[in-house]
Amino acid sequence: MKYEEALDLKSRLAEIVTVLGMKHIDVDRVGCFRSFGSSTKRTIARCHTIGKLMQKSMNVKAHYAIEFLEKFDKLSREEQDKVIIHELMHIPKTFGGGFRNHDFVCEENVRVLHERFLNFRKYNL
Ligand SMILES: [Zn+2]
Repeated sequence: MKYEEALDLKSRLAEIVTVLGMKHIDVDRVGCFRSFGSSTKRTIARCHTIGKLMQKSMNVKAHYAIEFLEKFDKLSREEQDKVIIHELMHIPKTFGGGFRNHDFVCEENVRVLHERFLNFRKYNL
């Protein structure tokens, strides 16, 4: 596996966080990376974090990393934005090193937020 920091995706992520008012997300503690050479065929992106005990042991704050697999770049811009929203929704309000599961991070909730994002852009361009 090879990882490359994705500052272009990071700035898109930061815009989405601002527009959608996701105030619990500390963008400085969310890394964005493209990965190459994964054998997973179905995954487009995934969210990583370090658990509470490791944070304590290493004396660091919670941190998240979003990994974008090679397939991501083949999607349309809209689909990409939805993927970014999906991954952001996995980060809980506590920003503490856990995840919200797919009961919450579901297609319908992603669609609602994505629509809100598009509407904002329509009126603010
Ligand atoms: Zn997910």
